[in-house]
Amino acid sequence: MPSQQPAYHSLSDAIVCKFGGTSLADATQIRKVAAIVKADARRRYVVVSAPGKRHSSDQKITDLLLTCWHLAAQKLDYREPLRLIRDRYDQIARDLHVSPVAAPLAEMERELSRLAAYDPNTLATRDWMAARGEYFHACLIADFLDATFVPSGECIRFDAEGHLDVVSYANLAERMTGDGLYVIPGFYGRDQQGRIKTFPRGGSDITGAVVARAVGAAVYENWTDVSGLLMADPRVVKNPRPIGEVTYRELRELAYMGASVLHEETIFPASEAGIPIQIKNTNAPNDPGTRIVATRDATDGDIVGIAGRTGFTTIYIEKALMNQERGFGRKVLEVLESHGVSYEHVPSGIDSMSVIVADEQFQGRETGVLRDLKRVLEPDRIETYAPLALIATVGEGMAYRVGVAGRLFAALREAGVNVRMISQGASEINIIVGVATDEYECAVEAIYEAFMGE
Ligand code: ASP
Repeated sequence: MPSQQPAYHSLSDAIVCKFGGTSLADATQIRKVAAIVKADARRRYVVVSAPGKRHSSDQKITDLLLTCWHLAAQKLDYREPLRLIRDRYDQIARDLHVSPVAAPLAEMERELSRLAAYDPNTLATRDWMAARGEYFHACLIADFLDATFVPSGECIRFDAEGHLDVVSYANLAERMTGDGLYVIPGFYGRDQQGRIKTFPRGGSDITGAVVARAVGAAVYENWTDVSGLLMADPRVVKNPRPIGEVTYRELRELAYMGASVLHEETIFPASEAGIPIQIKNTNAPNDPGTRIVATRDATDGDIVGIAGRTGFTTIYIEKALMNQERGFGRKVLEVLESHGVSYEHVPSGIDSMSVIVADEQFQGRETGVLRDLKRVLEPDRIETYAPLALIATVGEGMAYRVGVAGRLFAALREAGVNVRMISQGASEINIIVGVATDEYECAVEAIYEAFMGE
């Protein structure tokens, strides 16, 4: 029976490689990309972002496109950002000796002027405009690499709720049955009405994962401008070690607590298919980078990384015989829900309970939340403590090894850091501690030293 869905296990030794904006910012970078692609015949699917920044004060093409769109939609002068976009692509085409993307650029100008004239039939929606960056760049790069351009707009579809439609996998697979090289623009697809729709910003990472799953790739390489993830934030810890291998689960925990390299949603299409993601540096292709895998040998108990965030408040509630009162926790959470506040952690004692909330959620609602908690719970004491920072120490090996917590708390004690909150999830891959914000950096350094210091 023909299957609607492609096989999700690895079909081949093929590699999908996605290159980010800085890896494709100009002709010099694109030549590095070409060398990387040519260095390994398995690299047959190339997903591209729009040109990114060439230096820190430069502008990303996607930002310029959105500026153009906003100006045109308000009938304001958009000639300057439009010129910068045109010049950038022309320059790249000239430097690479390929044909300019003249016709698609002219089409964009036409649609922008229709937008500025309030023509309801203009194609230039915000997403259409934002997606031009990847579209133009994929045309240029396909030409330069002598590869087949794969129209994402015809393959990647969104369902009525705006989520990726699984038909996208089959659509992509059908388009790429040959043995040649394919270039796929990242970041966009089409909605049910046939309009261009983008993923969230940074979403070319997601396209890469979708393509990897569609073709059953052996690995999804995500090429960027850093050599993978680091074990701690380099703004806090000096020269933290790189992470060689991390599981999808560990990465989720680290990302949730502030570590960032990949777009969050990237992991799912790849992890559901068990495809490893390899983060690599276009500017240092021989660096090993970080490999994100389904399982790793973590029996040595090593932790994989430390991540943290500031900006939390503790709501502390105390009431005698709380443990005998049915529904106490539910009432607390209902009050928060009724004020539209989501919670991060709920460590509890016998007659006390704390709820940790992010300040951005709590600010402006604090008075109402506390008033309702007092009314509904009739507590003996209710107080808030801020500002709090949370630090996650993450590693699959924790579940197998005695003493990880002991080492962590001994390190904090020696550093003179007062621990305000402790939470270890049932998954046992993460210990979270809460400390006063002004002790945050000292605490992260102490934990890093305890586990990684030599
Ligand atoms: N170009 C898009 C952005 O800047 C998508 C991407 O690069 O992943 O957000």
